[in-house]
Amino acid sequence: MNVVRLGLMDKIRFACMPFAVTHVLSNIILVDLYRDYFAKHKKYFTLHTIFIAGFAGLLPDIDIPLNWILNLFGADLVHRTITHTPLFALIFLIPGFILWRKKKHTMAMYFFVTSFAVFLHIFLDYFFASDAGGGIMFFYPFSTAEYALNLLKGTSATLFAGIDAIILLLWLWHEEIKHKISDYI
Ligand SMILES: [Zn+2]
Repeated sequence: MNVVRLGLMDKIRFACMPFAVTHVLSNIILVDLYRDYFAKHKKYFTLHTIFIAGFAGLLPDIDIPLNWILNLFGADLVHRTITHTPLFALIFLIPGFILWRKKKHTMAMYFFVTSFAVFLHIFLDYFFASDAGGGIMFFYPFSTAEYALNLLKGTSATLFAGIDAIILLLWLWHEEIKHKISDYI
């Protein structure tokens, strides 16, 4: 555990890393690539599936606005606790499997990508969070031990925004080639 005390701005900077855009984009891109190259039944992946994947990429951070609301009632929800656990991610598999068994495959896929997106969010936070800014409690609520790799130690937020931009451009280029998106604009 790092004992260095951080200023408020540092805390905000660490807490927001990786950026919201990364959480949304990484899921949209990975689910889209999976659909393009690996999915046996592409029809189970609609545009809604991709939208939900992007949305679910941010879902774990719902604890931030939720905390603002709870604060009004004197309650507290600490960032990166229950919504940042494998347990939370796995919950979505339950409706997923029920729907799958009922042959509602497209709907089931919404829940499967949500589970995937939550897992990816947790791992991105784990890779780039710093211990001092609050790591991931993988075993919450059973243990509050925090895990963080802090891979971006010593780099600036600008570099990270740059990587974001490059990933976005590469994917856009892929879409252009694979689907000839410019035909529809
Ligand atoms: Zn997060």
